[in-house]
Amino acid sequence: MASRPGSASRPVVLVVGGGYVGLYTALRLQRRLSRGEAEVVVVDPQPHMTYQPFLPEAAAGSVEPRHVVVPLRRTLPRCRVVTGAVVWLSHAQRRARIAPAEGAPYEISYDVLVMAAGSVARTLPIPGLAEHGIGFKTVGEAIFLRNHVLARLDAAASTDDPAVRTRALTFTFVGGGYAGIEAFAELEDMARYAVVHYYPRLSPGDMRWVLVEATGRILPEVDLDMAAWTVRQLTARGMDVRLNTRLEEVSDDGVVRLSDGDSFPSDTLVWTAGTKPNPVLAQTDLPLDQRGRVRCEPTLQVSGLDGAWAAGDLAAVPDLTKDEPGATTAPNAQHAVRQAKRLADNIVAVLRGGRPRPYRHAYAGSVASLGLYKGVAQVYGVKLRGWPAWFMHRTYHVSRVPTFNRKARVVADWTMASVFRREVIALGQLQDPRREFVTAAGLGGAGHLPAPSAGDRAQAG
Ligand SMILES: Cc1cc2nc3c(=O)[nH]c(=O)nc-3n(C[C@H](O)[C@H](O)[C@H](O)COP(=O)(O)OP(=O)(O)OC[C@H]3O[C@@H](n4cnc5c(N)ncnc54)[C@H](O)[C@@H]3O)c2cc1C
Repeated sequence: MASRPGSASRPVVLVVGGGYVGLYTALRLQRRLSRGEAEVVVVDPQPHMTYQPFLPEAAAGSVEPRHVVVPLRRTLPRCRVVTGAVVWLSHAQRRARIAPAEGAPYEISYDVLVMAAGSVARTLPIPGLAEHGIGFKTVGEAIFLRNHVLARLDAAASTDDPAVRTRALTFTFVGGGYAGIEAFAELEDMARYAVVHYYPRLSPGDMRWVLVEATGRILPEVDLDMAAWTVRQLTARGMDVRLNTRLEEVSDDGVVRLSDGDSFPSDTLVWTAGTKPNPVLAQTDLPLDQRGRVRCEPTLQVSGLDGAWAAGDLAAVPDLTKDEPGATTAPNAQHAVRQAKRLADNIVAVLRGGRPRPYRHAYAGSVASLGLYKGVAQVYGVKLRGWPAWFMHRTYHVSRVPTFNRKARVVADWTMASVFRREVIALGQLQDPRREFVTAAGLGGAGHLPAPSAGDRAQAG
């Protein structure tokens, strides 16, 4: 049966997704609208927003994983937060079906829609990829990879079998955008520190870090000279950057085969080769472009529909700062945050009988961390390398992470990390917490445990 969360007198604003766009839109709506003007309902499968630019630092242990997420219920006390996924939506009927974390799906009615469900990893039908690979988009994946990389060092240091050692110490990443490069560089930096300080039987030269990128460059967000400098920096650290190379196959026993003819066993395969709009859009009646994004007007209104808005990674928003016809804003946090603010202001204006204003923002540039005290940045045409870029990365992101609480905790994490030695302990039991109890109860390794995920298999491999 359909339920309507608001009272008949005030409109319901349904925000699908509590990420960058969803959280910032709801924050602004809760601040600008009085309780009588509208009820804001935020639906997300996670009870938190994830500040994704901090995931590489969370994986490297510089920031506590809990501090890179922002709890929705605490941050949005004047909104109704629903933990569940929107699985179907008809804007014509103004209804959405929600699958809660547990229990049967149900429908709600709404008046105004904000579609902000973001993007998902863009994978290719490469044999073995789904079975052996893991993405890098969620805090769960970041924690898993941190534990996994450290567990691989433990495995390599505790065996005399050269084959086990080689595959444990080979780490393969696919995709050279900022998410991939930062994850690749931060994890290598952490692993190198761990090897030098705590693994006398290993040396950094025993590790093999391979980045596979299908195009002729990495970091498309910065100029070519900065991208080339980054490749030189990574190569000087002994990392293997393969441009114009594709992942072709991963065999059942984890041997990675590349398009340049090379193949090698690798216990770690991280896929960061781009994103695509959330596939839930196919279960809606919203108009989509040829890339599967929601068609939007410059005002962030969904084209041709009343009362529907969209922004962020899943939206095709015209880029008014570019002359090329058909240019749309790139999927990144910079646009997501600014679009959310414009979107919320436009909703408030329309609810109060006013007119929406177009979104216009020229991309300011990029900052990327490449490990402790290492980075690359290009902001408003200014190019920075090494320590200054790393410092800019930190100051920029701490100024951007939502809420004072999170800013303070992140700064505290960095301060502690600069005073004490780096934390490089693998909490492998987190990946399989019931194993010991199930074994003690005599059910053996399998018992009633759920089937292992691709990530668990990578851990076991
Ligand atoms: C590792 C990494 C590093 C990055 N670093 C940078 C950087 O340095 N600079 C930069 O500009 N950008 C960066 N980005 C990109 C940036 O994080 C995204 O562009 C931004 O998050 C997009 O915001 P969004 O609101 O569209 O999507 P998201 O922030 O991803 O939010 C989407 C939300 O929708 C929820 N959702 C999904 N499906 C459903 C459903 N069916 N129903 C309801 N809710 C749903 C999700 O749980 C999520 O909370 C990075 C991304 C990654 C992965």
